[in-house]
Amino acid sequence: MPELPEVEALASFLTQRLVGRVVGPVHQVAVNVLKTYDPPLTALRGRTVRAVGRRGKFLVITTDGADGPLCLVVHLARAGWLRWQVKLPAEPPHPGRGPLALRVQLEPAADDPGAPGPSGFDLTEAGTQKRLAVYCVREADEVPGIARLGPDPLDEAFTLEALTALLAGERRQLKGVLRDQSVLAGIGNAYSDEVLHAARLSPFKLAAKLTGPEVATLHAAIGSTLREAVERSRGLAAGELKAEKKTGLRVHGRAGQPCPVCGDTIREVSFADSALQYCPTCQTGGKPLADRRLSRLLK
Ligand SMILES: [Zn+2]
Repeated sequence: MPELPEVEALASFLTQRLVGRVVGPVHQVAVNVLKTYDPPLTALRGRTVRAVGRRGKFLVITTDGADGPLCLVVHLARAGWLRWQVKLPAEPPHPGRGPLALRVQLEPAADDPGAPGPSGFDLTEAGTQKRLAVYCVREADEVPGIARLGPDPLDEAFTLEALTALLAGERRQLKGVLRDQSVLAGIGNAYSDEVLHAARLSPFKLAAKLTGPEVATLHAAIGSTLREAVERSRGLAAGELKAEKKTGLRVHGRAGQPCPVCGDTIREVSFADSALQYCPTCQTGGKPLADRRLSRLLK
């Protein structure tokens, strides 16, 4: 799943290619991908892209027209992705069972008459669980998932005091708190593992029980982990981001491999539809956490 750093990189990749361009035909291919009905997607045609930005894990493409701004908002969910297309096929796509969910074509650029064909981008989604979501709205805040977002961890306003206030009285475990978009915007399963490893904190530690110095370490780890990932992804093409995310991760998805800090074996705890990874030596005083699924099976 793309998280804050990947969506940030996608937004800057698209900023270079979309800003100032005029939107052409928009083809909805997957039936359920569009979560709004008014204004319709056809309202985007003929409008000029003003900006491409990020809100949490949402990508926001803002267009201008005679009647004010209109935004195309995208949440890529677990298996969604964006593919930039230098030359789209002349034929409109057919609805079907393939991964293509939505195609946005651009009008030819006036200053590039030698372009190979209409360019644009495809939103695709692998697998059978269709969670990719697209919204066509006047303002990004009309999307419920955006209205609910907590502070952005890369925002200047996300100070140590702000994190301290967010964690005060928080009775959940750190892993769940960090992934909760209404607490912090943009961190998912992968970067919460990375942040907790960098901060040397157990994923199951209760948030409200952190000491002052631990909150400070966590705050620093959130900033450095995300900034480093954004830095690594900067300037990469949309197609290269997934591989970059994988190689940059130190513990997430690396169960059984040695911890890059201490050499201990990275362990895993599995849940119904996800898993977390951590290093016992770095994070839990050398004690492996009980894998609840496994221990339930063994009973
Ligand atoms: Zn370690």
